[in-house]
Amino acid sequence: MKPKLLPIHIYGDSILREKLPECSLDDAKLKDFIRDLSYTMYQRDGVGLAANQVGSRLRMFVIDPEWAREEREPNPIVMINPVIESSDGETENEEGCISLPGIYANVRRPARITISYTTPDGERVTETVEGFKAVVIQHEYDHLEGVLFTDKVSTLAKLKLKRKLNDLAAQAVDGKNVREGLPDA
Ligand SMILES: [Zn+2]
Repeated sequence: MKPKLLPIHIYGDSILREKLPECSLDDAKLKDFIRDLSYTMYQRDGVGLAANQVGSRLRMFVIDPEWAREEREPNPIVMINPVIESSDGETENEEGCISLPGIYANVRRPARITISYTTPDGERVTETVEGFKAVVIQHEYDHLEGVLFTDKVSTLAKLKLKRKLNDLAAQAVDGKNVREGLPDA
């Protein structure tokens, strides 16, 4: 079956503010969903995409932190029911988000994290990561908690972003703000 491009839920959509409950791996639709989620991430030129960004309440995300930097084959890493076990250090990076088109800001986060998660094969894995991969994981993990990167920026940066955020939120109807298809190049 051909992978499907999933609709993107944009800032102002209430599902982006939901904390997603743990999901079961027995879900028959899980395999198709993982394939479509990964496909949609690459089609949007993203390095990470969480389930609620495409309107699903499955507690999982996909990442491919190397994708934007290297010309190479896709290597999607799916993390199901992830738990950040510990974190330390500090790093600051400019972040953006497929659900917040046109918005970028510096975000401070722990530099190193230990995360455990279940793979699509059902294996529970624990690993310690740092660098860009740790930033991407924390950004996606936040989505599963209903948190967006703009919640974490400085007060001054928040003020600067306010109008753009309000413009995005103004497009929401009945708590939904969904974009189908690909954005114009
Ligand atoms: Zn995001």
